Amino acid sequence: MGKIIDGKALSAAVKEEVKAQVPELEAKYGRKPCLCVIIVGENPASQVYVRNKVKAAAYTGMGSELIELPADISEEALLAKIRELNGNPAVDGILVQLPLPKHIDEEKVIDTIAREKDVDGFHPGNVAGLWLGKDCIVPCTPAGIMRMIDSIGLDLKGKRAVVVGRSNIVGKPVAKLLLDRHATVTIAHSRTVDLGSVTREADLLVLAVGKAGLVTGDMVKPGAVVIDVGMNRNAEGKLCGDADYASCEKVASWITPVPGGVGPMTIAMLMKNTIACYLSRMA
Ligand code: NDP
Repeated sequence: MGKIIDGKALSAAVKEEVKAQVPELEAKYGRKPCLCVIIVGENPASQVYVRNKVKAAAYTGMGSELIELPADISEEALLAKIRELNGNPAVDGILVQLPLPKHIDEEKVIDTIAREKDVDGFHPGNVAGLWLGKDCIVPCTPAGIMRMIDSIGLDLKGKRAVVVGRSNIVGKPVAKLLLDRHATVTIAHSRTVDLGSVTREADLLVLAVGKAGLVTGDMVKPGAVVIDVGMNRNAEGKLCGDADYASCEKVASWITPVPGGVGPMTIAMLMKNTIACYLSRMA
């Protein structure tokens, strides 16, 4: 039976690290780090995410601000707000919650956030930094996944890692981070033929798809580590991952639950990224 990688406990530990650091930073540099979170419109899932992010920031003692903008705000007005925050020396991190309403070009928004305040690590400068192996802000979810892998002492050198999903925010960056640890990495996606034959090769299986129960126990190599990023609602409306948890946990050595796995780690790593952005400007 697979042991659980407890994202909630690990995220609490990361937040404690940040909480201890904030007063030290304030004493040294004369002000606290500050995170600004922008939400456009009233997407209920996004509202929960941004509230949790701001709550976490408040818990650590750093400054935080939630900026709520109407769904019909023009693209130009949103970009102007971002530019204003870019120019505000008291703001260290800017996060614009995605998805945005259809009339707003997400790429333009991401490009407008100053690279040094891009706590999400989505800016092209940070993406290039990740792929070129340079100093950069790593997207929160992939960073959280690596922290979970480290928490179980898994040495990835020479191991087979399979990432299912190739998005810019999870699949691709996590694949690069695994490559950096010398895993042999395969990225599977919607056109992959016979997904099970690919996932069964994996010593480490990262699922970032968004399809409840896509991967069942018979698709997992016995003893593999399963990291489930998926956040889905099943037929009963319950939050669940991309793994069919009941069958996968019987085969895996370690597995992350949903909820209480990768989700809390994403928020904890956002706190870390805010500190990193602060230090890049203050230190
Ligand atoms: P995207 O929708 O951007 O990407 C999904 C990926 O899954 C695509 O690459 C797609 O392939 C692939 N895919 C779709 N269907 C299949 C299939 N049947 N077999 C194999 N691959 C498939 O999603 P995200 O990366 O943004 O998010 C993935 C999941 O993770 C979602 O449930 C999301 O809610 C969750 N998430 C959770 C976070 C957390 O903090 N816990 C943070 C971010 C996301 P193709 O490219 O070919 O279309």
